[in-house]
Amino acid sequence: MLNRFMVVSWVSRTVHSLVMAAKYNVVFVLGGPGAGKGTQCAKIVEKFGYVHLSAGDLLREERAKSGSEYGELIDGHIKNGTIVPVEITCRLLERAMKNSEKNDFLIDGFPRNKNNYEGWNKEMGDKTDLKFVLFFTCPLEVCTQRCLDRGAAGSGRTDDNIESLKKRFDTYMNATMPIIEHYESKGLVRTIDATRDVDEIFDEVSKLFA
Ligand code: UDP
Ligand code: MG
Repeated sequence: MLNRFMVVSWVSRTVHSLVMAAKYNVVFVLGGPGAGKGTQCAKIVEKFGYVHLSAGDLLREERAKSGSEYGELIDGHIKNGTIVPVEITCRLLERAMKNSEKNDFLIDGFPRNKNNYEGWNKEMGDKTDLKFVLFFTCPLEVCTQRCLDRGAAGSGRTDDNIESLKKRFDTYMNATMPIIEHYESKGLVRTIDATRDVDEIFDEVSKLFA
């Protein structure tokens, strides 16, 4: 005879396994401004069918919406190279993940500081399975030149100029590197030398997804 306890425990185990199966697979993609995160993500999408979510692109999209209550706040942070509060970024990321039919996500340019890291873990930690952190290393001079070239070629970005870039690098060194080091200590970081040409880098990246 089934008693009530057995039924309740079966239901709870079934619900638990359904929830577990529905977890989002996530790869965080980090590296300095201009390291090539976006470029490599596009290639990973093409070859391995991931969904690319750039936190910066989502914020720029939100900023561009007429009537967005966060437009000005986001604009200020982007020009200053500082980090938008996690509640905003996390909500945009979660919405994009919920709206996607796929389950494998490259989250590019996030988490960038302690506030991002803690906010994400609190809201999304249980709903996601973090596969690894893809980390592109690139010397500051190379990254700066790439962003300036991108600006000169008409990226239209308000932060591809020397003043914003200095601030973005400060934030990267002071706020983002400690997060990468933290993931490193957990054995989650896969480091890629991003100074080479795009295809050479992608050959190495591909091995991590194959
Ligand atoms: N940004 C943020 N939170 C994020 C991602 C981006 O506040 O999670 C802001 C931040 O001001 C950053 C800017 O958006 O400097 C541009 O980020 P993006 O990732 O697009 O720049 P990239 O590093 O790719 O050049
Ligand atoms: Mg980018």
